[in-house]
Amino acid sequence: MGDFDWVRGFPLDFSGVDGSSKGAAPTVRRLSQMRGMYADADAEARAVADGGDPVVYEFYELGAPELPGDLAFGTSITYPGKVGSEYYMTKGHFHTILDTAEVYYTLSGEGCMLTESPEGDVVLHTLAPGKALYVPKRYAHRSVNTGGAPLVTFFVFRADAGHDYGTIETKGFRKLVLEGPDGRPRLADNPKWGGA
Ligand code: MN
Repeated sequence: MGDFDWVRGFPLDFSGVDGSSKGAAPTVRRLSQMRGMYADADAEARAVADGGDPVVYEFYELGAPELPGDLAFGTSITYPGKVGSEYYMTKGHFHTILDTAEVYYTLSGEGCMLTESPEGDVVLHTLAPGKALYVPKRYAHRSVNTGGAPLVTFFVFRADAGHDYGTIETKGFRKLVLEGPDGRPRLADNPKWGGA
């Protein structure tokens, strides 16, 4: 995918800050592709059936060779919105090679990164323009848009890390990021954690 020279190097223009890394194909995730991941199942079903099945997020990957010495990078856009009181978010994942970290750099928008280790250590990080975030090895990670504009991040990780979406799809994260009564994000226990 793409005309990128992974052998001799290449520059890439991210100045548009819209996440559309030139020459990369977007992967689009609509709400219907996240069935069961939001706490409010009724609100989720209504948004899919009556709300036009909105695009929740998309990401651009460049097709790096999946070798341990290469780096995969690209951009991710999580759109603003909520399902019930739960902010739009990505599916989230562990890396298949659990001992691999990732760096995110926020280009625009505001939100947070929900992270969780297999042992249950939950850490919520703030994402803000101009700030980098180090997601350590072993922690699952999910971008959450808590603002009113698209949350655009640049990411880079070891190219052979792989994505384990299944664990989160089955068990969920232990915590949810909800809009509180004061309009601010708050963490809540996930009543569905652990799977059906
Ligand atoms: Mn990752």
